[in-house]
Amino acid sequence: MAKIIHYRDKCIGCNICYELQPEYWRLSRKDGKATLIGGKLKRDNYVLPIPDHDIVKSQEVAEHCPVKVIKVFL
Ligand code: SF4
Repeated sequence: MAKIIHYRDKCIGCNICYELQPEYWRLSRKDGKATLIGGKLKRDNYVLPIPDHDIVKSQEVAEHCPVKVIKVFL
């Protein structure tokens, strides 16, 4: 199954991921960084399995992240 990995430490809180894919992202009120909704913490990064029909959109989000802290693995 494909998955999104969020390298959250380096997120700059620009909000683009939320604007493009609000079903997976929101901004934390605590630290202003993006949170991958439902993501599980694995070794400092957040991981979320996604269904095939969300792959293309998720790849688009990853491409638009200005600091490239979102990756989609197939
Ligand atoms: S697009 Fe990237 S830098 Fe911007 S809030 Fe989302 S994860 Fe953080």
